[in-house]
Parts: sequence; C-alpha cells; structure tokens
Amino acid sequence: MEKTVRKILLEKLERERILSRSEFMGLLSGRDAATAEELFERARRARERHYGKDVFIRGLIEFTNVCKNDCYYCGIRASNGRIGRYRLGAEEILACCKKGHGLGYRTFVLQGGEDMGCTPEWIAVLVEAIKRNHPDCAVTLSVGEHPREVYRRWFDAGADRYLLRHETADNAYYRYLHPASMSLENRKRCLYDLKEIGYQVGCGFMAGSPGQTAEHLAEDLLFIHALQPEMVGIGPFLPQRDTPFGDQRAGSLELTLFLLGVIRLMLPDVLLPATTALATIHPGGLELGMLSGANVCMPNLTPARVRGQYALYDGKAESDGGVMKSGEALRALRRRMEAVGYRVVIDRGDYRRLVE
Ligand code: SAM
Repeated sequence: MEKTVRKILLEKLERERILSRSEFMGLLSGRDAATAEELFERARRARERHYGKDVFIRGLIEFTNVCKNDCYYCGIRASNGRIGRYRLGAEEILACCKKGHGLGYRTFVLQGGEDMGCTPEWIAVLVEAIKRNHPDCAVTLSVGEHPREVYRRWFDAGADRYLLRHETADNAYYRYLHPASMSLENRKRCLYDLKEIGYQVGCGFMAGSPGQTAEHLAEDLLFIHALQPEMVGIGPFLPQRDTPFGDQRAGSLELTLFLLGVIRLMLPDVLLPATTALATIHPGGLELGMLSGANVCMPNLTPARVRGQYALYDGKAESDGGVMKSGEALRALRRRMEAVGYRVVIDRGDYRRLVE
C-alpha cells in the first residue's frame, strides 16, 4: 500500500475510530508488512494508554461439548458422531474454580455448546455458587443463544460478562456458515439483549473462514463499531476433519493479527484476547497477539480427562501443551508474556471505559 494512503487510513482510524466500508476494504485488501507494522505500533500505544502492560487472564472451563446446533465449521456440532460427548457436574466445575482461584484467576469463563441437558436454572444455581465461593471473581458465560428472560436470570444470579461471537455480520455469509435453523437476526437480538441487561458483552468472528471476503470483514468491523462491545474475540478459522468444512484451508496468522490491530484502534479500551486458535496456528501466537494489540489470555482450566473432547478444530493447542498442570502452564505463560514486555496480573480485568 502506498505510504501516504496507509498513513491517511491509519490516522483516520485512530482519530475517528471508524472508517467507511470501502476504506476498511481498502485497508484489508491492500495490507502489507509495512502497513501491519505501523498498525501494530499504533495499536500497542492505544492498548498501553488504557491498560498499560497488564495482561488479564481468564480461567476457561469448557464444561460441556454437547450442542444442539450444527454450525458447518464446528467440531462439536450435533451431527458429529465421531466425538465422545461429556458434561461436567457442578462439583467438578466448582473444583476447577477453586483451583483456579488459588492460582490467581479472578475471572472464570464457562463455555459450552448449547446443551439442552444443562437447564437455565442449573446454570443460574452454578453461577450463584461460584459467586458465593469467590465473591472477588467475575463470571463470564459463553453458552450461545437464549431468550432474554434466561439471560436476565443469569445476570441476576451474578454473571458479569457474556461472550457470543456474531460469527459474521453479513446475512448471506451467515447462511453459508450455518444451517437454516439459525439466523443472524437472532444472534444480533441476543447481543443487544445482553447489552441492555447490563452484561459486559463480547462479539467476534473467525478470520479466514471458507468463502470470507474483505467485504464481509468490513461488514463485521462496521457491526462491531455499532454494537460497541466491551470484548471482541477473533481467531483464525481452523478446519476440523469431521465437519463439512473439514477439507478447507485454515485462516491465516497474518490476517488475524491485522484484524486485532484494527479492532484495537477502533475500540481502544476493548478487552481483546489472544485466543487459543491463534496459539494453535502459530507457536508464538499469544505473544504475537499481544504485540498486535491484544490484552487478554484465556488459559484452559478444563479437567485434563475431557479437554481433548472439546474439539472445535483439529490440533487445538492447550495452553499447557496438553500435559502441563494448570499451575505450570500459568508460570510458563507469565514467562512468555514477560519476554515480550507484558505482565500477567491478578485482577478481575474489568472493562475500563475510556475517559478522555
Ligand atoms: N456455543 C457457544 C456459542 O455459540 O457462542 C460457545 C461455544 S462455540 C464452540 C465458541 C466459538 O468457537 C464460536 O463462536 C466459533 O467462532 C469458534 N469456533 C468453532 N469452530 C471453530 C473452528 N473450526 N475454527 C475456529 N474457531 C471455531
């Protein structure tokens, strides 16, 4: 990209925190190493203005891989008969939280498929128990699409945050990625309900999923700007062999990092994780994510005996390489972050609204 065009676009994005659809498309399609370098420098400055060098950690508990949905890209889709299914009991989940708390985690993320075996009331009682045991911790839920009253019940039970990637903001592309039983309209309805109820909300999408274009990505960025979420989850698409997209090419490290940088400039105070998918596509993915504007890591606290079954995609990196205990994994993460100038902190890591 020509130097002056690059400068104009990046300066405008940093100043106005938004570009037009065609400018976003131009920035994405014309991206090159020099543009990325300048983007990441600006993104790091923005991140450090709001969060300094702190890296927030979230203890991820993948508590069920049962799912009623059939998303074409996802390894735990209902039609995948090749994975063993599991659902953790409340006692086991509470034990994960206790262990995590002892290690320094102050946020627990309960993630799972849309498992009809976990009733809304069961989840509410679980959230209440976690908050009772650990009043100094935040609870994030990531369990898909539900009616507004259910989200309300969980919020009243003490849930603080909710992660629900919108997956794509383009209607036709949403239909390409999902069966007809799912709709972008309902996904968006959920996100706006969650926001109105008072959750800190995270949306997001996969980078480089099959058939994704610069126009789709521009639409995602415009949607994210309109929603103004507190968190955004971006990771590369990675194929899972037993899904309809099992023979498709993986997304790229480079595109994912570029998008992290763009999102940091667009929402300077956002909580932005370097995801497990990023760690899977490249062994230095977490460090590179931080250097591109991310400020959150989500190490896995799921019990080792079921971890391999939460197989969203092939080769999923464990924060611990699959063998390390959670304590060792956290020590390793601290060292890795320190090596690139950041520090893992013991903190709930709430969203800090930008005051200027
Ligand atoms: N069921 C909940 C939901 O729909 O939000 C949470 C679990 S879902 C498996 C979490 C996220 O995993 C999805 O939002 C999707 O973006 C991501 N994911 C699923 N399959 C993937 C794949 N093959 N590659 C990369 N990410 C994937």
